[in-house]
Amino acid sequence: MKLVRFGEKGKERPGVWMDDGRILDVRALAFHIEDYNGHFFTHHGLAQLAALVNDPGATFIDAAGVRLGSPVARPSKMVCVGANYAAHAKEFGRDIPKEPILFSKATTAINGPNDPIMVPDGAQVVDSEAELAVVIGKTASKVGKEDAMDYVAGYTVVNDVTERIVQKSNGQWFRGKGFDTFCPIGPFLVTPDEIPDLGDLRVWQKLNGETLQDGNTADLMFSIPFLIEYISQGMTLLPGDVISTGTPPGIGSARNPQVLMKAGDVVEVGVDGVGAQRSEVR
Ligand code: ZN
Repeated sequence: MKLVRFGEKGKERPGVWMDDGRILDVRALAFHIEDYNGHFFTHHGLAQLAALVNDPGATFIDAAGVRLGSPVARPSKMVCVGANYAAHAKEFGRDIPKEPILFSKATTAINGPNDPIMVPDGAQVVDSEAELAVVIGKTASKVGKEDAMDYVAGYTVVNDVTERIVQKSNGQWFRGKGFDTFCPIGPFLVTPDEIPDLGDLRVWQKLNGETLQDGNTADLMFSIPFLIEYISQGMTLLPGDVISTGTPPGIGSARNPQVLMKAGDVVEVGVDGVGAQRSEVR
């Protein structure tokens, strides 16, 4: 299944993307499913959705022209992994990390997958990072990697938009990665049954049609099960939390000459089999 949230920003409704140009309007039939939030994942929401799709009373809408939001409601936290592809660590001028580098993006930065990305006043070096992200499906505390996949609700795409000058000049990455609109998520939350091999997914970015990133999850240094174990040892992951697994090499700011996002550009990021985003830069 592909879960979507559709409608006006801040008023999105839960839906299921049908691959035939329609969206199942979940709340039209199941009033108790308010949103794809912690309550939904905790109360067997995914199993209920699977039944709704085949319900004779199901209501569908035409997906054409419909705005999509992030496929998960605002999570309790976004845990991001830095330098998780060796070749990206090198282009960013870092040693290959011995353990995951974790940081967070502000949940107020979350943007729809096709919403405009707003460059803040004074920003000079802004670029995108295409990433595979995991959405947690049940409370995870001290979970071993052998059990970690039981805690996964599904997968999505995150664009970890970053202002590099602020990222590098501030002691922390939080501000440079936390500006409003700097975290497009989606378009889909794809359930694990639709992903045959997590270890072989193409992760890519195009700016104005030109390919900047073309990596593969085969090159992730710290795997998703390891990350869930590592994070959950001391930090409880709640249903709906998002872990963004890091970006492959090719980012625009590491190129010579640099390829930077500016107003009027169109950036596309995607993970094959999981989804693709298209955002105008303003
Ligand atoms: Zn990143």
